[in-house]
Amino acid sequence: MTFAIQGLNVSRGVAIGRAVLVASSRVDVAHYFVNADQVPAEIERVRRGRDAVVDEIRRLHETITHMGPNEAPHELGALLDVHLMLLQDDALAAGVKHWITDRLYNAEWALTTQLEIIARQFDEMEDEYLRERKADMEQIVERVLRAMKGTSSPIEAHNQRTMRKASQQDLLLDDTVDVPLILIAHDLSPADMIQFKQSVFAGFITDVGGKTSHTAIVARSMDIPAVVGARLANQLVRQDDWVIIDGDAGVVIVDPSPIILAEYGFKQRQGELERGRLQRLLHTPSVTMDGQKVELLANIEMPEDAAGALKAGAAGVGLFRSEFLFMGRQGRLPGEEEQYQAYRRAIEGMRGLPVTIRTVDVGADKPLDDSLHDDAHLNPALGLRAIRWSLADPAMFLTQLRAILRSAVHGDVHLLIPMLAHAREIRQTLAHLDHARAMLDNRGVAYGPVKLGAMIEVPAAALSLKLFLKHFDFLSIGTNDLIQYTLAIDRSDESVAHLYDPLHPAVLRLVADTIAVSRAQGKVVNVCGEMAGDVALTRLLLGLGLRSFSMHPAQILAVKQEILRADTSKLAPWAQRVLEADDPARAMTMA
Ligand code: PEP
Ligand code: MG
Repeated sequence: MTFAIQGLNVSRGVAIGRAVLVASSRVDVAHYFVNADQVPAEIERVRRGRDAVVDEIRRLHETITHMGPNEAPHELGALLDVHLMLLQDDALAAGVKHWITDRLYNAEWALTTQLEIIARQFDEMEDEYLRERKADMEQIVERVLRAMKGTSSPIEAHNQRTMRKASQQDLLLDDTVDVPLILIAHDLSPADMIQFKQSVFAGFITDVGGKTSHTAIVARSMDIPAVVGARLANQLVRQDDWVIIDGDAGVVIVDPSPIILAEYGFKQRQGELERGRLQRLLHTPSVTMDGQKVELLANIEMPEDAAGALKAGAAGVGLFRSEFLFMGRQGRLPGEEEQYQAYRRAIEGMRGLPVTIRTVDVGADKPLDDSLHDDAHLNPALGLRAIRWSLADPAMFLTQLRAILRSAVHGDVHLLIPMLAHAREIRQTLAHLDHARAMLDNRGVAYGPVKLGAMIEVPAAALSLKLFLKHFDFLSIGTNDLIQYTLAIDRSDESVAHLYDPLHPAVLRLVADTIAVSRAQGKVVNVCGEMAGDVALTRLLLGLGLRSFSMHPAQILAVKQEILRADTSKLAPWAQRVLEADDPARAMTMA
């Protein structure tokens, strides 16, 4: 039966495919397709993993039968029996075989997919004792996965089969192999999303998350349809259901009828045609009708994203979120040399264009590791994050500063500091920068000049611009956080997403003043939050005087189209009226 789930639209476009439900704790399991001739080897890998665990449990059983009741309680033996029974259960083996043979999933993916199905069956059981066996099932699959670790697949990630785009005909024929797959999870961390950058998935759906949560931001940078905050999607959708993601409307349609499928297939093709049309603007200079040059920069998460930025026609990188180099490493942070090489790759990837490297901005919804989710502090967004974290760990901060300074030998590097609010933080940051240079001097290591910028993303910063302009070469407005902190809305909490409003008069006032004051002092100012890539806001930002925008590469051409149609001499008075209005969103629709 067809039904729809409303979520938040985070990444445009339409994706149609089969649901792959992944438990949040298992998103790090490899997901790729094997070739048909590798099917027997994949099935064998699971069998060997399972047999190894069966042996392990039998040995344990043997040991405890020789122990007294004080050393090994009777229940332990019974529990091991249950584990053995579950391991040898036909439903597990048959299901795994099906996913590998019929869908060509790799062994680990097949195993976790089948686990999801069985876990749901346990959830639905009336009998409490049986319901509790779900945890046992999860434990044994975990053990099999661990046992399989030593027997990695002969297929390397770069060798994986890629999905071809399914045609409407395929979808209606219910082709079982080679149809796009849509990942559905309760939650995905930004680090998980990074893993999926090169993945087989054609779209993402999560139960939780706000529009400018970092998970949503990474989905947008991948330029594939995504919906977050879909609340119960993970429970309502079943493994392998057909789903449609309408990324523009933030809607998920489950089990669509052929008519709905055809309708969305049409919409999907329209979207592709529109993107094709925008490509014609790639080499058109970004200049308004009245001759104002506008700089269009890219936001990137990894050095390798530089290629996509260049391809999209970016004039440089306006925001390299360096924290993604620090995530998912179980606390083993990248050293100076590793960071230097990463920054250098990004700089060289941009072929002489400027690259703005932001110092590490972890904390809140960007934990270093998934296991380090900050539950200890009640308000992690107000806690030790971004520059506060860097200043609290001078050795780590100095390491990063040295790596960035060294990388500046290879190009035009701008160094950007996130989340500053206090004069003291500015002073400490500048002192650390001097110290980093002195350390490099002492070691006789070469480094280059950097332009120094501050992010304006805390209202306190936007209200003390004089201080910031005294110390920094440029300012970059982080509207995602500026909105969060001005309106007291957690950007990653879908339950308050309706209050997250870029057009709130207070937000616009802070953005407008930052632009105006910086320009009056001849300082460069840009917006690097999600507002910069929102075509509905391009004219307003131009009217407020903004001439530098930094966004996901995928948005650049659409924003450029708006710029080419704009006349800033007319937009400026209009923008002032919008700024003064009680309801700017309404005022924007008036001439
Ligand atoms: C912002 O806050 O607008 C910003 C660009 O930084 P981030 O989204 O990484 O917090
Ligand atoms: Mg920010």
